[in-house]
Amino acid sequence: MHDDHRLVEARLERALRQRLRPALHGATVPLDIEVWHAPGEPVPVSDALGADYKPAALGESWGPPWGTSWFRLTGRVPQEWDRQRVEAVVDLGFGGGPGFSAEGLAYTPDGEPIKGLNPDNIYVPLAGLASGGASGSDQAYAKGGAAFQVYVEAAANPTVIGWPDFSPTNLGDKETAGTEPMYEIRRADLAVFHADVWNLLLDIDVLNELRAELPADLPRRSEILRALERALDALDYDDIPGSAAAARAQLAGVLAKPAYASAHQISAVGHAHIDSAWLWPLRETVRKVARTVSNVTTLAADHDDFRFAFSQAQQHAWMKDHHPQVWSRLKAAVESGHVIPIGGMWVESDTNMPGGEAMARQFVHGKRFFLDEYGIETEVVWLPDSFGYSAGLPQLVKLSGHKWFLTQKISWNQTNKFPHHTFWWEGIDGTRVFTHFPPADTYNGQLTGRELAHAQRNYQDKGSGTWSLLPFGHGDGGGGPTREMLGRAERLADLESSPKVTVEHPARFFEKAHEEYANAPVWVGELYLELHRATYTSQAKTKQGNRRSEHLLREAELWSAAAAVAGRLEYPYADLDRIWKAVLLNQFHDILPGSSIRWVHREAEETYARLAVELEAIIARAQQALAGEGSADVVFNAAPHDRDGVPAMGASVRGRSHAPDVTVNDEGPGIVLDNGLVRVTVDERGLLRSVYEIESQREALAPGAAGNLLQLHVDTPNLWDAWDVDPFYRNKVVDLVDADSVEVESATPEEAVVAVTRSFGSSRVVQRIRVRAGACQVDVDNEIDWHEKEKFLKASFPLDVRAEQSASETQFGHLFRATHTNTSWETAKFEICAHRWIHVGEPGYGHAIVNDSTYGHDVTRDVRPDGGTTTTVRLSLLRAPRIPDPVTDQGMHRLSYALVPGAGIAEAVEEGYRINLPSRTVAGSDGVAPLVTVDNPAVVVEAVKLADDQSGDVVVRLYEAHGGRAAARLTTSFGIDSAQETDLLERPLAERDLADGGVEVALRPFQILTLRLARAS
Ligand SMILES: [Zn+2]
Repeated sequence: MHDDHRLVEARLERALRQRLRPALHGATVPLDIEVWHAPGEPVPVSDALGADYKPAALGESWGPPWGTSWFRLTGRVPQEWDRQRVEAVVDLGFGGGPGFSAEGLAYTPDGEPIKGLNPDNIYVPLAGLASGGASGSDQAYAKGGAAFQVYVEAAANPTVIGWPDFSPTNLGDKETAGTEPMYEIRRADLAVFHADVWNLLLDIDVLNELRAELPADLPRRSEILRALERALDALDYDDIPGSAAAARAQLAGVLAKPAYASAHQISAVGHAHIDSAWLWPLRETVRKVARTVSNVTTLAADHDDFRFAFSQAQQHAWMKDHHPQVWSRLKAAVESGHVIPIGGMWVESDTNMPGGEAMARQFVHGKRFFLDEYGIETEVVWLPDSFGYSAGLPQLVKLSGHKWFLTQKISWNQTNKFPHHTFWWEGIDGTRVFTHFPPADTYNGQLTGRELAHAQRNYQDKGSGTWSLLPFGHGDGGGGPTREMLGRAERLADLESSPKVTVEHPARFFEKAHEEYANAPVWVGELYLELHRATYTSQAKTKQGNRRSEHLLREAELWSAAAAVAGRLEYPYADLDRIWKAVLLNQFHDILPGSSIRWVHREAEETYARLAVELEAIIARAQQALAGEGSADVVFNAAPHDRDGVPAMGASVRGRSHAPDVTVNDEGPGIVLDNGLVRVTVDERGLLRSVYEIESQREALAPGAAGNLLQLHVDTPNLWDAWDVDPFYRNKVVDLVDADSVEVESATPEEAVVAVTRSFGSSRVVQRIRVRAGACQVDVDNEIDWHEKEKFLKASFPLDVRAEQSASETQFGHLFRATHTNTSWETAKFEICAHRWIHVGEPGYGHAIVNDSTYGHDVTRDVRPDGGTTTTVRLSLLRAPRIPDPVTDQGMHRLSYALVPGAGIAEAVEEGYRINLPSRTVAGSDGVAPLVTVDNPAVVVEAVKLADDQSGDVVVRLYEAHGGRAAARLTTSFGIDSAQETDLLERPLAERDLADGGVEVALRPFQILTLRLARAS
């Protein structure tokens, strides 16, 4: 037989384009259009219904960037359409894809939301809208002569980023986006919906896409081609609606053939990955969620098998707070099982950077919202899109009562293909979580033949496992699943040559996958994303705001709890709850990583500034209540270790320092600062030439090398400017060695400071290099007036130590990464994330670098001619990408770090807390005994607070911080009746014995322990 498949394909393509798709909505009548352009920000529907509408016409422009226009569409169902299925069809002038273009939400004249409108979802069902229309199950069918009216809230959201074109734009902030209208209304019709045509289109799409994925020599492929040809033959182009059923009959046979017995099985889960902010501000996400949830609940009404996984408690809470009608529909859909709260987190946060306690609170607040509002205990942690997953996460997943973990982002790796799709993920403490990466490599699936075939081909656990999960629905900017996707799913349930598709609850998938593959392979440690490594650095002020907020919250909870237990103040439950949620929201995976538009980061900076004022007030109030009346200096130490004679988490009246004085010798060469522990030499160019640790008689810096060297790289990634730094950035570097001035700024017995000023490009930096009495470290405080573009600023410390690995703090512990580049896996980690400290060392000797604002680091190694090894640790201070925020990081930055020579892990942990929790001095009379004291420095108190249930119990979260086993005794300054071990949500796990009024604990490496202490009455 001659091969004519190209001929049939071309015939099919033209038939779809010119005949079939236009026939879906056959007869149409235009709707009358009126418009009201809302001034300024979005308004409630009640305001919009009563607004002053003006006639408008097709082709009319609307919508300056970020503007809102309301359209009122009015029409009447023609008599001859009686008992037909009628819907409105609206094209707002859509440009980009769903969620990246204009978007609409249709409302009834009573202000009830109907469903969202986007480029892939342009209809509004008539149901309930036409006065005198049918009711009940007949709602979909029109009554001839019925009047029809619908309101559409149209959002003129600009497409801020284009693929593949990454060009700077000012569209990302309302303040700079301009006022030119972006869209024109293209279509507003009443139309008859031809169900046979719709079904025929789906039959053809599913079969044709399947066919395209099959091997040319497989009989099935040709069988489908011939069936498609017969279907075209059966069509009457003069009456497509009337002949669609006959065409479908030709396809029924190939559609009815069941899947192979060994076909891959796919659990399809409806989803809309809605970025809580990204290329749109938070306020727009509230509306995106309303549109998507309206779509979803409308779909659920017609499709009982539909399941939609809806993550991020914050997005649910927005509906509760801002869209009461959508909220009640959402609650009903959760009740009926169509909508599945998932993820158990407040937002889908970044997981590289949030501190331990904040990461825990993501789960506490997320899970609790779902419990309180729906009575649902979430089991699946759902993070399809965050930029890598920290090694501390598995333990938090488990301790928050979750069983399963899902992501697919690691499929974006630039270098190495991750070897598993289903596996056990083991964290730093040994906790294992059963984990799945959807092999379709997307969280915005549409159930196309290509996606399904890719999932089956790509799935790496064939032979051991048979199931994978596929989230489907328009995401990023929202939209969610469409009726077409559900139509595909029905056809793909059991279809020869296709994977079998079952729409179901993600937990059902995990149960089956776990049951068949309980011995899945194990991946130990972080799930490092080999991409988007610049997200540890971009938008420094957002990151600093996060770091400051986390530590202010620690202080606010600690001192408020102490004041409340002392009976001097009420604990500010509501304020702390609200502030925590604001901080958690800003940890969303496009906010904290710095990958959002200017509007988002401008608001984040404003939020952090406001929260800091509030938290400082809470702290000051509590400390004043504790210190009492008086004029003595009472020094508060919020850190988990004693400091300068002040107990951990307590306060003392300032005593006399016993540390030797700091001396300064500036007779040259260089300026020498010495406190008896460390002798630091700053040369005439302001560079550290020596950091000599006196007790061990070791020089920290590599011979001939300069420490605290600022290095400026050209930083022009190929794509994803705010997200990515590409390895070739290292090829172009300028060492900033020229100083405007180097001078001793102050010298007292307590501390000596050398100030170094440098100008470079359009920027200027003042570094204050400080040595303090009693501290074996050199501090560097930076004021950087940064006006570079597409540059990367690093601070370099070349250390004379042969470190096989670096240790970086993550949540509740640290992880090791090799310093070599033997394999592609290590080479790909050329930029790494650390929290408050990074450590490099040889057995028995090492150095820590601690910071108060920085997350990005890199560690490299070199062997010198003298045979020694230089391990160079660099902090990534600032970047200046221009996309999506054209003014990223411009302006003044203040940030600090310190080199701690001769530090082990224990000192790194301690100094990491210290630099982030400076002591505070308050006028008063009394010291303050710590609420809790732990007698082993390896057991670190991460949080002290009153229980969220307002019972008055004191909650203490501890962890083993050195990576070994540790036993400790916890004692309290208040009487306790009982101690319970709890999960992160403070729910009891086990009763703990009291021994002499204290609690004995024994922890495995990095184990987290939450204790709830009931106060003696
Ligand atoms: Zn995302």
